[in-house]
Amino acid sequence: MQYTDPMMRRPKRRAWRKLKFGIGAGLVLATLLIVWLTGLASLRITLAETETRAEANLAVQTAVLERLLDKFRLLSPLLARGPDIAGLIHNQRVDAEPGIAAIAAGMSGAEEIWLMDASGKVIVSSQESVPANAIGGARTIPHAFAQASQGQLGRELIPGTPETPSNYVFASPLRRGDTFLGVLAVRVSLDDVEQAWALSKDPILALDGRNRVVVSNVPELRGRTRDELDPSWNVADLSLAGRMQLLLPAAGARNSHMQLTSNLPVLEWEVRTLVDIEDARRQSGWAMLVALLVCVIAAGGIWFLIARRKEFVREERRNRASALRLERRVQSRTAELRRANTHLEREVRERKQAEASLRQTQAELVQAAKLATLGRMSAALSHEYNQPLAAIRSDAEIAEMLIDRNRADEAKSNLTRIGGMVTRMGEIAKTLKGFSRRSGTDIKPVSLRQAIDEALLLLQPQIKQSGFVLNLDLPEEDIIVKGGRIRLEQVIINLLSNAFDAVQSCATPMVGLSLVREDREAVLQVADNGTGIDQETLPQIFDPFFTTKDVGAGLGLGLSIAYKIVHDFSGTLKAENREGGGAVFTMRLPIADKQVLAAE
Ligand code: ADP
Repeated sequence: MQYTDPMMRRPKRRAWRKLKFGIGAGLVLATLLIVWLTGLASLRITLAETETRAEANLAVQTAVLERLLDKFRLLSPLLARGPDIAGLIHNQRVDAEPGIAAIAAGMSGAEEIWLMDASGKVIVSSQESVPANAIGGARTIPHAFAQASQGQLGRELIPGTPETPSNYVFASPLRRGDTFLGVLAVRVSLDDVEQAWALSKDPILALDGRNRVVVSNVPELRGRTRDELDPSWNVADLSLAGRMQLLLPAAGARNSHMQLTSNLPVLEWEVRTLVDIEDARRQSGWAMLVALLVCVIAAGGIWFLIARRKEFVREERRNRASALRLERRVQSRTAELRRANTHLEREVRERKQAEASLRQTQAELVQAAKLATLGRMSAALSHEYNQPLAAIRSDAEIAEMLIDRNRADEAKSNLTRIGGMVTRMGEIAKTLKGFSRRSGTDIKPVSLRQAIDEALLLLQPQIKQSGFVLNLDLPEEDIIVKGGRIRLEQVIINLLSNAFDAVQSCATPMVGLSLVREDREAVLQVADNGTGIDQETLPQIFDPFFTTKDVGAGLGLGLSIAYKIVHDFSGTLKAENREGGGAVFTMRLPIADKQVLAAE
């Protein structure tokens, strides 16, 4: 695994942190730029729309003013050319027809129509009395009168005040032939225009050649000069198409406005409209806010994705680390197991070797035991046979000698002794034959009681001769076991004979025989109060040809034959010393089944 020095990691981390900070600052700047550009674009689009709308509105409202003035521009020459009007002044009969001007005014919709003589004096008017303040200083129209007296169409503006609307007067000369008789004046109130303009929500105002507000849908502005207009409306040159100006609030008191201008060249007037662009600004603000929100959400999304990716990478790294740890543990465990395996293999090898050597030792021991038994057997047999053989030889020699001396009668007793000794040797051979007899061929249910009785019968002369007490403890009910009757009798005789031998030197010799049934076993015990068995000889007493008796007194086959017989009947034979002295031999044999007995 690659190892990185922690000291090396620090500058890397610092550089990474710097890079992160740079990326963050860049993102913030980009966000601000996006927000600003969005606001600008939104403002431009909205302002363009507002301008189009305002331009259309301005064109309509300007047309309203132009149409009105055009209509009345023609009215005064038309009326002045009528023969009757000039005739009236010429014939000095104006008093007689005072209503004619009123009729003309009423029909045309003009505010007032009046006639003036050549000196400028008002002769007749459609309105009897006109309040002096209504038209801004009576019917004095010097400029228009002068123009009319020169034969032109006279025009005169009677400026309004915040309370009264402006009026416009057209004046036409009245002639008879070449004689200038007077002037016909038609006064038009611009109130109609203002009423039309009042429908527009944006302020509209018309400025005359002297920069005075003459018509406006905001009455307060009437009569003011351009300079007298609200000084807080600064004109900012943010023209989009060259004809538009923005009026920005100076002290934040008013909303920003867009100003559009249209010229009336004939009148040398200028019509302006001011459009509130606060909505556009607000919309631009909202657009900026939305852009900001979008940027923030996008940044949040990106941040979330980055965080998730980081977490994923971290998780991946953790998983890799734990997999590595696990792999290492598996490796170390495998190595441990391999070591343990090797150790076990070595142990198995050692054990096998030990077993082999044990088996060899055992075989050697068995061989040694066999040789020892053979030795014991040869010694016993040679003694048992040599002694009678020597006696037979000497008896035979004596008998031969006696017969040679014709003392055949005396030789007879020697021959009888020889016969007895041959009989004894035959018995020894019979015992040996019994020891080598094959087992298990004739096993059948046997009454233990019967076997005991017959054994006692055979031993009766020996018991009577020795005169000791034989205690019998037998159950009333007979016990049946599996075995052979003769062989069982032989076992009982062997055990009782040994007991008789053991108690011979006792003052009060006593031998006991008991039989009980324990569960599914018959337990027969032969106990005596004799010498008992030495602890050293106890393990060997069932060995063949083992005896502690004098030469000729015992062959050492009794217990070994009994042991073999009992084992052939699936029983056990055990020798112990009694607590009060003497030995006890316990034989256990399995009880024969009732079904087996029934079958028998
Ligand atoms: P043998 O009687 O010919 O010696 P056994 O096989 O019958 O051969 O007995 C082996 C030996 O066991 C005896 O020599 C004797 O030392 C010992 N032994 C057997 N029965 C008794 C007993 N009841 N009390 C003491 N020792 C006994």
